[in-house]
Amino acid sequence: MVKFEVEAISNLQNTTLRAGIIKDGMIEIHTPARVLNSAEFDNGKKIESKGLGISQFPHQVFEITKFMKPERLVEFSRNADISATILKQVKRISDAAGAGRLTIFHPVISRNPISDEINTKLIELQLASNIDLIAVIDEYGSSVPKFVNRLQSSIKRINDSEQYAEPMPMIRIDSDYNIFGEKIDAAINEGVKVINIVYAPIDKNFANYSYLINLTKNKGKKVWIHMSEVPRRLYKKIPAMHLLPLVGIDSYALNSRPFPMGLIKRKEVAVKRFDNISLRFLTLPEHIKLYGDNPKCNCFVENRQKLSEVLSVFQAAELLSPAIACHEAISSYYELQNFRRAIIQKRAREYLSGKENLIYPIKKLLKIDLAQQQL
Ligand SMILES: [Zn+2]
Repeated sequence: MVKFEVEAISNLQNTTLRAGIIKDGMIEIHTPARVLNSAEFDNGKKIESKGLGISQFPHQVFEITKFMKPERLVEFSRNADISATILKQVKRISDAAGAGRLTIFHPVISRNPISDEINTKLIELQLASNIDLIAVIDEYGSSVPKFVNRLQSSIKRINDSEQYAEPMPMIRIDSDYNIFGEKIDAAINEGVKVINIVYAPIDKNFANYSYLINLTKNKGKKVWIHMSEVPRRLYKKIPAMHLLPLVGIDSYALNSRPFPMGLIKRKEVAVKRFDNISLRFLTLPEHIKLYGDNPKCNCFVENRQKLSEVLSVFQAAELLSPAIACHEAISSYYELQNFRRAIIQKRAREYLSGKENLIYPIKKLLKIDLAQQQL
């Protein structure tokens, strides 16, 4: 049974930063945490298959993100061949995550109504794939009683399966205020240990984010808040990792929505790589100016001497973008652990102000917060 506990809390202006522990049998996961998504996992496999990678991802939570079009969802619930194909895809990554890790299933779906039939079918898929945290899909814009009904019957279904799994309601943060908060409270009343929030921009949905901030301060102390579909960069190209814990998020995974085929015009852009010191995305010349040719990283994609060599080797193997994605997944994982240590040691404020590029977005965030407080 999954348990979430808060280990330490650090206050910053009107927000609360929390360092938590997810426990599940022998597994202990420290939050705030960076969760690996299936696209990143597949990038790691590609690199490994060319003999360039050497070790595993450090992430303890794997999110199996599956993009599903509305038509495809209907086919999935009615056509045995299609559901078998999707089951195979999900199970492959769930099996690969291995012991000692938790798996989350997160279907990326549009705002179209999702019927009870589709939700039930998706739960069966997850149980058959040995997913640990079973997504229960909310119908976009549904009423609170309808949400509770579906959650209760889904919890019953999961418990009846006698499989070792936890229900995880999925709620969109761009829902109407009131309804959003009531759904969160209802889920907590039903005894869920984890809630999956679907990302939408902070400034446009601040009322709901501020609901989460208050939740983490008060009654939500035993509930792990996980966010999915987070973009790689928020506010002026800043990675999400330090901003999300400020708005009540304990863990997050990046989005991996595929680009529509044939619609993308390829253009030459400078390669940008995540820099875990400045927390910015840097081009090679920018990096060299700051640190010389040292990669300043020991993630599994960068075991060579010079960054310029590393990048050219991956480019030659046509693995540059997977390598950059893996580097980002690993270095932000470790960076978030540093941030966690700072929360526990009560030096979160110093830590954040030492990251030059975070000052603008944090000020922006706190200003929105203060504006809301006056309402
Ligand atoms: Zn790296």
